[in-house]
Amino acid sequence: MSYVTNLYEKLGPKIISRKQIHTAVKRIAKQINNDFNNREVTLISNLKGSFRFVSDLISHLKVPIRIGFVSFRSYKGTKRIGKKVVIDKDLDLDIKGRHVIIIEDIVDSGLTMDYSIQYFKKQKKAKSVKICTLLDKEVKRQVPIKIDYCGFKISDFFLVGYGLDYDEYFRELNDISVFKQIINGEKSE
Ligand code: 5GP
Ligand code: MG
Repeated sequence: MSYVTNLYEKLGPKIISRKQIHTAVKRIAKQINNDFNNREVTLISNLKGSFRFVSDLISHLKVPIRIGFVSFRSYKGTKRIGKKVVIDKDLDLDIKGRHVIIIEDIVDSGLTMDYSIQYFKKQKKAKSVKICTLLDKEVKRQVPIKIDYCGFKISDFFLVGYGLDYDEYFRELNDISVFKQIINGEKSE
């Protein structure tokens, strides 16, 4: 069996349906619309996992927005690469004195988010930084993070679909499913 066929055979049960995602996205957009009430906001989407989430989210926003994309990571595949956050793609947008919302797919240990908040506040001089994540794996947290907008709180499963990958596959799936090969964040042999 090929590597890819084998991967797709290992797809576990769906735990969040496209309909549930759609409802959550609309709920979050409503909260942002209320909070910003016609004031402009800059969304910073952390690639690649959040690309579908941010795309759907902006279709429901009624405030003036600017979008920036970054790629910050504390993981490679499913293996942690120490406590350091790596910047694969830096921000190409000026956010000095601006209100910012960071858009993530998952907050897990919180290390990426903790670094991102400090980076946008201290180095890029944002006026305010709010946090929006589709999924919150609170049980895995190593540093406290105050999340302003959250889609779903989830248990410690490795999830794929709706932008989330395993080894770059599964981002195309419209529902979010458990990837069975991963147990407690580690690849089972
Ligand atoms: P952390 O909060 O530990 O710094 O890292 C969060 C990042 O780890 C997420 O943005 C995502 O890229 C990755 N991650 C954590 N849990 C999962 C998961 O269950 N599935 C996938 N595909 N990525 C995950
Ligand atoms: Mg990510």
